[in-house]
Amino acid sequence: MTAVNEKELAALSKQVGKNLSKHRFEHCLRVSDYAVKLAKQNGVDVNQAAIAGLVHDYAKEVSKKDFLKKIEKSGLNPDLKNWGNAVWHGVVGAEFIKDELGIDDPTILQAVRLHTTGGTHKEMTGLDKVVFMADYLEKGRDFPGVEEARQITDKSLDQGVFYQLAHTLLFLAAKEKVIYPKTFEAYNDWAMYLKD
Ligand code: GDP
Ligand code: FE
Ligand code: FE
Repeated sequence: MTAVNEKELAALSKQVGKNLSKHRFEHCLRVSDYAVKLAKQNGVDVNQAAIAGLVHDYAKEVSKKDFLKKIEKSGLNPDLKNWGNAVWHGVVGAEFIKDELGIDDPTILQAVRLHTTGGTHKEMTGLDKVVFMADYLEKGRDFPGVEEARQITDKSLDQGVFYQLAHTLLFLAAKEKVIYPKTFEAYNDWAMYLKD
């Protein structure tokens, strides 16, 4: 679709707002806006971008207990139970979005699943890249380098994805955090794809 379905978006927005604190809901609204901008620049469906951006963190405030229950009920890989909110709110979050918001568009659900870790260059669709980058670059973000990241992404969505993957990896390692294997896999794949 070439235009945002404002009515559908407003109805979804109401539901998303009820599930999130004010600051996180406002982040979701800004991600939705930035996703629309990037979608227009890259020939990606703007309606899917607006929806995926709006709902991407829908499950961010779900309790550990409810995530674990959903992993069981949805028959997801039991290894997921060993991880935490950072991984769950995307991968398991997509199940909440399907069940509670009634969104069953597989393209939107995949963009939500990959929004934290990214994926390989073959795996990531235009929508996946747009949502991944909009989450990183939305107008409320102010980390050092955000302006550079915005400029790189305006020139090349792929280079933006790689910039974020490299910088997130550095950020997590600097804080001595555990890094999810998919995050490494995505970084290596894009490094090989763009640099070799
Ligand atoms: P947000 O939901 O808008 O805050 O953004 P994201 O979904 O991109 O990231 C959520 C959190 O997960 C951030 O603090 C990231 O730094 C962190 N994160 C991203 N990848 C990984 C990973 O591989 N392992 C861990 N432990 N955290 C990660
Ligand atoms: Fe997130
Ligand atoms: Fe987010």
